[in-house]
Amino acid sequence: MNFELEPRYLEIQGRARELAQQVESVAAEADECNTVHPAVLEALRASRLSELMVPAEYGGRDKRPDPLAICVVREALMATSAHLDSLFALQGIGSYAITVGGSQSQRETWLPRVASADALAALGLTEPDTGSDLKAITTSIIESGDGLVLNGAKSWISNGGAAAFYVVLAKDQHDSFSMVLVPADAPGVSVTPTPQIIAPHVLGEVAFDNVQLPADAFLGEAGCGMDLVFGTLGVFRVSVAGASVGLAQAALEEAVRHTRTREGFGRPLAKLGPVAQMLADCWTEIEQARLLTYRAASMAREDPAGTLHHSSMAKLAASEMAGRVVDRCVQMMGRFGLIRDSKIERLYRQARPMRIYEGASEILRLGIARELTRTVP
Ligand SMILES: Cc1cc2nc3c(=O)[nH]c(=O)nc-3n(C[C@H](O)[C@H](O)[C@H](O)COP(=O)(O)OP(=O)(O)OC[C@H]3O[C@@H](n4cnc5c(N)ncnc54)[C@H](O)[C@@H]3O)c2cc1C
Repeated sequence: MNFELEPRYLEIQGRARELAQQVESVAAEADECNTVHPAVLEALRASRLSELMVPAEYGGRDKRPDPLAICVVREALMATSAHLDSLFALQGIGSYAITVGGSQSQRETWLPRVASADALAALGLTEPDTGSDLKAITTSIIESGDGLVLNGAKSWISNGGAAAFYVVLAKDQHDSFSMVLVPADAPGVSVTPTPQIIAPHVLGEVAFDNVQLPADAFLGEAGCGMDLVFGTLGVFRVSVAGASVGLAQAALEEAVRHTRTREGFGRPLAKLGPVAQMLADCWTEIEQARLLTYRAASMAREDPAGTLHHSSMAKLAASEMAGRVVDRCVQMMGRFGLIRDSKIERLYRQARPMRIYEGASEILRLGIARELTRTVP
């Protein structure tokens, strides 16, 4: 058993760290933006890392997006900029349903532009009145004449207003769930801003008012939309764990640098018992979460839907860990941990949404427990 990343992942990690370094000087500014920061997008495009999100035949790198490669990249990017991490992640989250369910023509139209990050992608599941309870969505897709008509609204959509297309979950007239591909410039699509959140994010409220779509706008079979949702989660939920590990590692490094140099009671803070214990606990918990994350991501490479509970465990463990670790790091830095827009304060705010999106912790626990009780003989 080898716990080290193979050379191809180390190569990708190196490229991701290089990109993070290029963006570092504008990271604080970009992370306050709720619209796309042009220099960060330009750097992402130049890095060509979005190619990881698309199959090789459409301008990507591998046969299929590789969850472990995506995790390793998100770990490196999130340590520097949440804005950069989100732009990268959304290229996969918003396009995966096209990769696995799209027609030849849908793939050819969109995936090469996703790979080059010329077209930004978005996934619309959440609605103003429903989040975790996805089956309660009311956005409708109705067959009409030769085509389809989409009505409804999606809420808190990452890349809302910036995306070139939306992959949207809707209910059809038979009460089944379907995914449809909606170009952002289709007549009847409009976007208004989502309220600003504690860790700013490119978010929009996307409304569909009698949007006319061709009959072949479905992704996969009509009525099989939930399969595409679970397929997407299988690959990308674990990547939130990767980003959480990166965030926690960055917070710990801030705390180490501070407590190593600041003295109190005649010694560096890092040598005072309770502070040393907090440092050790943080490091230990990060290593635990990283191992679980890499393992779940490796499993998802072979069978994303079948190993979703492992991705859920990794996301649960890593996002909860990031919350604990960054909170302790602020504590270790005393008043200096509270300075608005300092790196540690930014990380503190950015850790919070991770326990809510792509499966809130409570929802993940329900799924994990369901799998446990189903499988124990
Ligand atoms: C930064 C950010 C980006 C986002 N981007 C997107 C995006 O791109 N696309 C998209 O579709 N959505 C997006 N979302 C929305 C996100 O997916 C939802 O916030 C998430 O699904 C939770 O839904 P909710 O916020 O409505 O919470 P609710 O579902 O209302 O849940 C509220 C609380 O109740 C708990 N709860 C709910 N049901 C149960 C239950 N059965 N048992 C136990 N506890 C329960 C939850 O765990 C949570 O703690 C984004 C959110 C954020 C914060």
